[in-house]
Amino acid sequence: MSEPAVNLLGLPRHELEQLFTGIGEKPFRARQVMKWIYGHGMLDAQRWTDISAALRQELATLAPIRLPLITDAQASADGTVKWRLDAGIGQAIETVFIPEPGRGTLCVSSQVGCAMNCAFCATGHQGFNRNLGTAEIMAQVVLARRELGDIDGRSPITNVVFMGMGEPLANFRSVVQACDLLVDDLGYGLSRRRVTVSTSGLVPQIRRLAQEARVALAVSLHASDDALRDELVPINRQHPIAELLDACWDYVQATNTHEITFEYVMLAGINDSPAQARDLAALLRRRPAKLNLIPFNPFPETRFRRSSPEVIDAFRNILSAAGIVTVTRRTRGDDIAAACGQLAGQVHNRVLVPLGSREGGTERAAWPA
Ligand code: SAH
Ligand code: SF4
Repeated sequence: MSEPAVNLLGLPRHELEQLFTGIGEKPFRARQVMKWIYGHGMLDAQRWTDISAALRQELATLAPIRLPLITDAQASADGTVKWRLDAGIGQAIETVFIPEPGRGTLCVSSQVGCAMNCAFCATGHQGFNRNLGTAEIMAQVVLARRELGDIDGRSPITNVVFMGMGEPLANFRSVVQACDLLVDDLGYGLSRRRVTVSTSGLVPQIRRLAQEARVALAVSLHASDDALRDELVPINRQHPIAELLDACWDYVQATNTHEITFEYVMLAGINDSPAQARDLAALLRRRPAKLNLIPFNPFPETRFRRSSPEVIDAFRNILSAAGIVTVTRRTRGDDIAAACGQLAGQVHNRVLVPLGSREGGTERAAWPA
């Protein structure tokens, strides 16, 4: 028998409604199904008590829930959990749960690998294979919830961040659809503030996101001048810092969000000097910005080293003194390679565009618009 074309998981609300009207059912069936899947985390359709057995049967044929296999799970000494999910043809993506007092953050992947080629990132080193579909993004949320179990009838996942493998804004459509399901009252029901998209700086997509999703935005800055950022975050050659920051401030205006979170990886001797801290302060001062300093997480074959705690403190003090809310992110899950930038999954790089061209927009740019 051939595979049904439609996966019930990840279907946008209006497509689910169309599916029901297409088989002569009322559109409100979509709400019932969304409540079961995302509201209650009930993935076993046999237990959807307000849906008739006949309709459940029809759904099972037409659009069953299809989930990727969990191929590995590891728990860190600090409570962080990392799952590896099958992404087909011998490939894998990774998802990480980070428990903290009063909240639980799920860090999801948006692509198999990443084409952005940031110099200090394990995912970038592996290259890019493909975008994940909305179902594969939502599967990370529903599977993590199933594996963790609800506490007092509530999901332990209170925040979702697109900070796993991949550049989420290079997979725009699926990421926006997943955000919609995460914030929909009939979906997972998170507030927009609790869903964060982190980008290396795709300016046109930041502007589109302001129109289409209005979730919290994190921007990976990592340098305060274009020459260095060109090297660390190659997309900077197409969208330099001034253009990126303009898009950020416009995002705050357009979406009525409080602020942008800027991420800055601390690389010893590269971007961690007091002068660089002062330049960074000049860029962010009196702006709706907060800053997360991320101690570099090493991985095999990297040439970078983490800045020392003293250097990170001195850097932070300069920014704090300039009035910028600056926190040093605690490294979580590094004993299981689950910390920022360590996720590698398993990726067969199929980006054939050669490295090297510094001009133009083609360097390793293999993502669909
Ligand atoms: N691709 C997106 C989101 C995923 S990476 C982005 O780049 O924003 C999440 C964060 O981890 C980003 O700020 C990224 O720059 C940072 N990061 C990548 N590699 C890292 C490493 N080895 N150590 C510490 N942080 C890293
Ligand atoms: Fe991709 Fe983000 Fe890694 Fe850069 S830091 S290579 S954008 S995952």
